Amino acid sequence: MTFRLDIGIVGAGIGGLTAAIALRALGHTVTVYEQAAQFMRVGADINLTPNAVRALDGLGAAVTQGIRASGARPTFRISRDWDTGLETSRLTMGDTAELRYGAPQLTIHRADVLAVMANAVPAECVVFSKRLCGLNQSDEGVQLDFEGGQQALHDVVLGADGIHSKIRTALFGEEQPRFTGVVSFRAVVPTDKLRQLPEIEAFTKWWGPTPQSQIVTFPLNQGRDTFIFATTGQDSWQEESWTRPGDVNELRSFYRDYHPDARALLDACESVLKSALYEREPLPQWSVGRVSLLGDACHPMLPFMAQGAGMAIEDGVVVARCLAQAQQLADVAPALQRYATARQGRTAEIQIGSRDNQWMKTQGNADGVYGYDAWAVPVPA
Ligand SMILES: Cc1cc2nc3c(=O)[nH]c(=O)nc-3n(C[C@H](O)[C@H](O)[C@H](O)COP(=O)(O)OP(=O)(O)OC[C@H]3O[C@@H](n4cnc5c(N)ncnc54)[C@H](O)[C@@H]3O)c2cc1C
Repeated sequence: MTFRLDIGIVGAGIGGLTAAIALRALGHTVTVYEQAAQFMRVGADINLTPNAVRALDGLGAAVTQGIRASGARPTFRISRDWDTGLETSRLTMGDTAELRYGAPQLTIHRADVLAVMANAVPAECVVFSKRLCGLNQSDEGVQLDFEGGQQALHDVVLGADGIHSKIRTALFGEEQPRFTGVVSFRAVVPTDKLRQLPEIEAFTKWWGPTPQSQIVTFPLNQGRDTFIFATTGQDSWQEESWTRPGDVNELRSFYRDYHPDARALLDACESVLKSALYEREPLPQWSVGRVSLLGDACHPMLPFMAQGAGMAIEDGVVVARCLAQAQQLADVAPALQRYATARQGRTAEIQIGSRDNQWMKTQGNADGVYGYDAWAVPVPA
């Protein structure tokens, strides 16, 4: 590569780090700005479906090996009815899915994914304690303004700054994420406490009586623990936090009519975290000039298709592929428009599908979601 861009990425989440690794591999200079003081072990299990793992695999051997060393491989993807417990769909994962899609499904702690990805970029590439507060672009470049008064100038800026993206607001104006009326409970239980339950090493979704109500379980920490993720409608709770404790008795009361095996999962929880779920409408435009968005900054979604991280990872790969076509600064804005064109249909469909929460309830084919290859999908020329 002869043409080298100086790229600023705001947000060192999974999407920002994917883009950073992919863009550095193309020879660009990349600086990632993160508001947190360091990577922290916040959050819990992330479901990396085969499309996400395939995209991560293209980032190099260190990432490929790292996520496999920390991740668990669910055996099946099973749907069950909430009260009868009857199975309504089953997809074989494990080696079968790896053969079909070119990569396995891995379930892994968000912090372990971030640790693997952070190891794949030089430490000086990620600047912590830098909270973006403003942005301006001119012929000189894109200027980033940080709290405390520091500034930085880059040829290109990618906003990977999550659901409350400051870059999205700077480009398109203020618009708050919408509370969905759904709350989530997250708990981690040692798998040994659940061995009496059938197929605890699978990804299982207990479909509830309303589209908001469900219990999902999948393995964490290579199967030593089981992650329990339950959602229900509750308009009165609007706190969006990854660390706020919930009440296990409240959790159990919401699901008291569920099948005994589903209730046994909740009986095993000693503590739980509770958070309100927010989303936004699909965004019709992602890029302005030499600034674009990726991940939750442009398509935050409900977790019902487990694609929040996957879509951010795919974006990171596709934006790098589109920027690889730029041979001069004047090519950057059109390249970012092509990136948005390549990604908007898929991410909007998954945002809406996640809201509807019917995907894989009874049907057993996930090819449309899992079969996407971010490294090979045609990008507009
Ligand atoms: C703390 C945390 C815990 C999470 N835990 C889970 C989980 O357990 N399970 C799950 O499925 N999903 C979890 N998610 C969500 C999931 O990671 C994302 O939906 C998905 O990976 C999309 O990633 P993203 O990179 O687009 O955004 P995010 O993962 O949200 O990353 C955005 C990053 O940008 C940074 N940032 C935001 N604003 C600024 C600013 N103004 N200046 C500088 N930096 C900024 C944030 O600190 C964050 O590191 C979590 C997200 C966060 C932030």
